Amino acid sequence: MAETAEQSFVCPDDLLVERWLPGFKRLSLPLDCERCGATSPYTFRIAGAEVNVLCPRGHRYTADVIQPPAARQIQHLVHTRRPGRPLPFPSGPGAVCTMPVLRERRALLPAPTKTGRQRDLLDEAGWRWSRRIERDFGDWPASLQAYALARHVMALALPHSADLWQRLHPAAGGNTIDAHMTAVVIGLAIDETGRHTNASSLRRMAIQDVLDLALAPDVAPALRDARPLTPYHPGRFMYAVRRLDVARFEAADPDRYDSWCRLAAQALGCAQETVLNDPTTTLFGQAVRLADISELLGRHWQHVECLQWHHTIDSAFNSHGQRVHFALARWWDWSVRRVR
Ligand SMILES: [Zn+2]
Repeated sequence: MAETAEQSFVCPDDLLVERWLPGFKRLSLPLDCERCGATSPYTFRIAGAEVNVLCPRGHRYTADVIQPPAARQIQHLVHTRRPGRPLPFPSGPGAVCTMPVLRERRALLPAPTKTGRQRDLLDEAGWRWSRRIERDFGDWPASLQAYALARHVMALALPHSADLWQRLHPAAGGNTIDAHMTAVVIGLAIDETGRHTNASSLRRMAIQDVLDLALAPDVAPALRDARPLTPYHPGRFMYAVRRLDVARFEAADPDRYDSWCRLAAQALGCAQETVLNDPTTTLFGQAVRLADISELLGRHWQHVECLQWHHTIDSAFNSHGQRVHFALARWWDWSVRRVR
């Protein structure tokens, strides 16, 4: 793994820490220096597993509870902030979704128009699988679930890996396109593993299965040609791949594509390890599942599901013709408000 450089940044605005007062009153108070009471600007230095925080007058802040994942989430908040607004201190592992979002057109690749029913474009086994898995998960079509889970993987892995952070987060000099394509590859790998194993649930899928069945060196090359069909309007399908992502897959030389697959495997591995190392995890001897990632985030997460990194949410329908648009749009608006 590449050597990681020390990261240093200044947080110019107050960092609000939630404190509980007697009588279960909750207050958000600015992080203040124990010695001089100053609240901003704080300087953060992340070196290896250590974080040093300096108050405006140079006192070293002694809150040894600030671990690198929390400091990286603060770095993300500073990078995406609106000046002059206080920032929430991250309340847990991946509490702030640090996945960078590309600002570009997010149109999906339209499905080919053929006479006859579009469901015939799906092979029969794939169709039966997507029907079955959808009921298991509620309203979301399988491919959309896969992308939401990919975002969960990224939200947990990015702040926990110095290497991923520096390669993929723009605040640390990383490449946003590579971050996006890594998440796309993870989403396609989850979807592909589900179809391949005829899984009854994407959430209950073992992370190791995704690594072995879709991201192993002999099978990963096939993912760049994956174009999963998903119900989009009643009786209509779209490919659950963005036009621009398809263009990037087609333009990428083998090394670039390989690096996305390796980063995807690294992110899944890091998320798996983070779940295993979390003291609150109870696995009952099972393999780590994708749901374990969501559950660990869920204790601290307020964004819930969000596809704003992947495509424009205007109208999505599940295969029973039920509209899932309102729920998605609401979460989308809400999470964008929270993230910014
Ligand atoms: Zn001070």
